[in-house]
Amino acid sequence: MSLKSRIALLSVFVSAGLLVAPAAQAVESTAAETTVDGRTVDPRPSTAKLAFELHKLALLSHGKIRVDKIGRSNEGRPVWAARVGHGKTRIQYVTQQHGDEPLGTPAALEFLRKVGVEHSAWARKLLSKVTVDIVVRANPDGHERDWRYNYDPDATPEYGEKGKGYDINRYHDPAVAPKDNPATEAGLIQRRNASFEPDIMVDYHMQGRYKDANGREITASTLWPTNAGVKPSDVDFAKQVAVVVQRSIDGNGGYVSQYPGGDYQGIARNGYGLLGNGSVLIELSLIPEREQQQIQDALASMLAIARTAADGSVRKVDPAAADAIPPRGPALPGTVEEAHEAA
Ligand SMILES: [Zn+2]
Repeated sequence: MSLKSRIALLSVFVSAGLLVAPAAQAVESTAAETTVDGRTVDPRPSTAKLAFELHKLALLSHGKIRVDKIGRSNEGRPVWAARVGHGKTRIQYVTQQHGDEPLGTPAALEFLRKVGVEHSAWARKLLSKVTVDIVVRANPDGHERDWRYNYDPDATPEYGEKGKGYDINRYHDPAVAPKDNPATEAGLIQRRNASFEPDIMVDYHMQGRYKDANGREITASTLWPTNAGVKPSDVDFAKQVAVVVQRSIDGNGGYVSQYPGGDYQGIARNGYGLLGNGSVLIELSLIPEREQQQIQDALASMLAIARTAADGSVRKVDPAAADAIPPRGPALPGTVEEAHEAA
């Protein structure tokens, strides 16, 4: 069967609901000033569309992209991971643990397209040096409701909200085994991380709107592990990755600050740091008029992390340069300061 007919057949499966449950109406996209490669990227693909896009990319990649269902959400939606490359340096990206923080997900699709589908010499070389594994939209039930938590309305979570569900990004404590993890989707990430054993782990979130001390708007914030149990050499490596993140996003027209995050070991940034990953958080600001550019900035960071890991240059960055990333200042007037740490 030709590739075209296989894609057409895939489309039939998806629309017949054979791959995934029918999706709720996608949230309307906002006006876009800038686009990725001249295309406007869907910032919030529906559950069905995400499955379709991932399988389409896998087909178009001629086997370079492998798509796995790593489990199901509490409501039975598939949680997908995609893997590309065969190099010995392993990188894991996780997107959308918080359902209402969507933009890492379309960036992940664009990353897979760039390195796995477009035929370029640099991508071929990249894929011989690194393997990139992406948990794409860790929290499909939260996405469906456009809320932070997973869907577990009968739970009384220590971290989360009664009547809604768990805050998945508080359930990555390495001391809690996946089988004992009350937050289903966090357990899926734990298992995928344990089987993949990445060198680098980057968790994509979104935050409100903030400025720096001089009033300049921050478009993204980043942070490394801050839990005291993380080995200093692993903190230094995470700081090197964070500097790559800053340079790639600033170089793309954004402006990166440090993120004022906490020390709790259940936060992915700390939990995977304790496991020896170079573990970094990225928070894209929620700037409606800059949505396409935010996706592009996230894509730039994914590409830069992979390229600098592939050529070894990330290991040559001065970790102290991370401490010079400017601090995040106050919320923009008229926007809401987050009541709790968003990461
Ligand atoms: Zn978040």
